Amino acid sequence: MSAFDSALAQIKALTPYLPGKPVEELERELGIGNADKLASNENPLGCSSRALDAIRRASERIALYPDANGYYLKNRLAARLGVAPEQITLGNGSNDVLDLVARTFLDGGTEAVYSQYAFLVYAIVTQACGATARVARAFDASNPQAYGHDLGAMLDLVDDRTRVIFIANPNNPTGTFVARDELGAFIEKIPENVAIVVDEAYFEYVDLPDYPDSLAWLPAHPNLIVTRTFSKIHGLAGLRLGYAVSSSELADLFNRVRQPFNGNSVALAAAEAALDDEDFVARSRETNREGLRRMQEWLGERGVDFIPSVGNFVSVRFGERSPQVYQALLEAGTIVRPIANYGLDEYLRISVGRPAQLDRLFERLERLL
Ligand SMILES: *Cc1c(COP(=O)(O)O)cnc(C)c1O
Repeated sequence: MSAFDSALAQIKALTPYLPGKPVEELERELGIGNADKLASNENPLGCSSRALDAIRRASERIALYPDANGYYLKNRLAARLGVAPEQITLGNGSNDVLDLVARTFLDGGTEAVYSQYAFLVYAIVTQACGATARVARAFDASNPQAYGHDLGAMLDLVDDRTRVIFIANPNNPTGTFVARDELGAFIEKIPENVAIVVDEAYFEYVDLPDYPDSLAWLPAHPNLIVTRTFSKIHGLAGLRLGYAVSSSELADLFNRVRQPFNGNSVALAAAEAALDDEDFVARSRETNREGLRRMQEWLGERGVDFIPSVGNFVSVRFGERSPQVYQALLEAGTIVRPIANYGLDEYLRISVGRPAQLDRLFERLERLL
C-alpha cells in the first residue's frame, strides 16, 4: 500500500476548484499582449493608489514576519464596521476563513447545508472535513431569483447533524441575492447550535434597499458568521486577504485553528490603506453599476438570456454553444468563465469590465451571435 492509498477517502474524492484562466497564459498562447480577463470577478480598475503606496512601503519590511494578530487592520475594520476587534478573524482570502469555519465545526457524521449553484468552495471545505453536504435545490429559472438560494428548501434540510449553513449573498455564479426580510426570518428559525455563514464577498457592490447588512443580526445571533474580502471591490485579489466577523467567542476559536501568519504583511498594509480610500471604492461601485447596466441591456436587446445579477458579473445563457462561445471569445482576446462545474453548462459567467473592455466584448459577441 502506498502513501497515496492511505490518504483520506474524502480528500482523494475532491474535485479541485477550477480558477479562471490567467491572463498571462492566454497571452502566451496567442502571442498577444492585451487580453481582457473578465473571468474572476476582479476589479477592472485595479486597486487604490493609496494601497499601492502602502504596498511599496511594506515591501521594505518583508524579511520580518507579519503581525500575527493584524492589530492595525482589525482595529480599523472594527471601527468601520461598528464591532469589537476581537470579533474579527483575518484570513488568506475569505476562502481561508470559510475553511477555518469548516474545520471548526465539521467532521465525519456532521452535515453542512448549502444551495445548489452556491459558491463551490462550500462543497470543497465540507468534503475535505469528511462531513456530509446537504444541497438544497435552488429556485427554478422562472423565479425572479432564478437559480438563487431557496431558504425554505435549505431550512428543510437542517437536522440534528447540521453544524454549518453556508449562504452566499449575493451568490456567485448566479448573482442572485436574499432579501433582508427572508434572511432575517431564516436566521430566527435556525437552532442556536448551528453556525450560519453569510458570505458577503460582493457586499459593497449591492445598493438595493432590501439587501441586508448581516452584521446587524450579530448582536442577537452569536451563531452568525459574516465573511467579506479585499479581493473584490478593493481590487486586492492577488494579495489574499479576507475576514470573518462573528461573536468574539467564535473568533477566538477560528484564531486558534488558523495558521499563525495567514495574513501577510504586504496584504495587511494594503488592506488598511484600501479601506480608507473611499473615493476608489465609490468609483469602483459606479463603474460596476454602469457596466452591469450596459451588459444586461445589451443582452436584453439581443434576446440573449441571462441571470439578472446584483454582483460584478453576469451569467449568460449561450445554450449548447457555450463551449464554442468560450473558445471563440478566448481566441478574440476576452477570457470569460465556463461554469459547467456548477451544473450550469449552458452558461458563461462574464465579469463586468471597464467600458473599453465591454466595447470589445460586445463587438466580439456580436460576431458570434
Ligand atoms: C470571490 C469570492 C470570495 C472571495 O474569495 P477570496 O478568497 O476572498 O479571494 C468569497 N465568496 C464568494 C462567493 C466569492 O465569489
